Amino acid sequence: MPIVERSLVEVDRTDQLELEGIDVSGDWNTFLRSRVSVDLDTKIADWVKGHPQGDTISRCWQCGTCTAGCCMHTDFGLEEFNPRYFIYLAQVGYEDELKRYANTVWRCVSCNKCVERCPKGVKVEEVVHTIGSYLTSSGLAPESPADRFDRAYTDNLLERGILDEANLFRTYERMEGRKTPTRELLRMGLALLRSGRLHTGPLAHRTRGWSRMRSVLKAQLAEDARRMGSTSSSPSPARGDRR
Ligand code: SF4
Ligand code: SF4
Repeated sequence: MPIVERSLVEVDRTDQLELEGIDVSGDWNTFLRSRVSVDLDTKIADWVKGHPQGDTISRCWQCGTCTAGCCMHTDFGLEEFNPRYFIYLAQVGYEDELKRYANTVWRCVSCNKCVERCPKGVKVEEVVHTIGSYLTSSGLAPESPADRFDRAYTDNLLERGILDEANLFRTYERMEGRKTPTRELLRMGLALLRSGRLHTGPLAHRTRGWSRMRSVLKAQLAEDARRMGSTSSSPSPARGDRR
C-alpha cells in the first residue's frame, strides 16, 4: 500500500454534490503535490554505508515490518525504539531528531527478528547498531556501556590472544567507576575456579606466537580507523567493526 501524507493530497473539487446527505461528488481532481526535500543530507547514510555492518541501509523502503515485529518495540513496550524510524532519520540526515534517540538506539537486544522479516534484506540489527555508532563517534551521544565493554574486550583479547576473564572484569569495572566488594569478588572467583570457567593469572591460556599476530591485528585496526576517518566526519571505527 502506498504511504501517502495527508498534507500532500490536494483535492480540487468544483462541486459539492450531495444526495440524501451523502457526498457523491467524487474526488476526480485529486492530486499529490510533489515533494521536494530541500534539506536532504546524505552525510549520515554515507557514513553508515561506509561500514560493513551498515551497507544495506539504502535498501530500506520504510515498510515498517521490522518495527512491527521488534521485541523491544512490541513485547517490551518501548515504543520509542523504532528501527524503521532510526533508518529513516539516517537516510534523510535529520541529525537533531536522531540525537534524541542517542540512548534508546542501544536498547536493541540483537534478537534478529527484524533481519528475518525484512522483505528487502536489510541487516536491520547491524544497521541500527551502526547508526548508534555514528552518534557516539560524532560526539552526539556519550559513549555507551556497550562501547566501553567492546573496548575493554578488544584490548584484553589483543593482549594474549585469549580472554582473561578476571582482567576483563576488573578493567570494565574501572571504566564504569564501579567497585564490587572484595567478599563478593572472592565468592564469584572461587565458584568460577571450581567449575573450571575462570582462566586468569598463572591459569590463563597462552596463544603460541601471539605477539606477531597481535602486531598484525593492531596495524589492521589502525588502518581501519584511518580509513574511516578519511571517509567520514569521525575518526573512530564503528562499534562492531572490531567484532
Ligand atoms: S523491514 Fe526492512 S525494508 Fe521494511 S522498514 Fe524495516 S528495514 Fe526497512
Ligand atoms: S534485533 Fe534489535 S531491532 Fe531487530 S527486532 Fe531484535 S531488538 Fe528489534
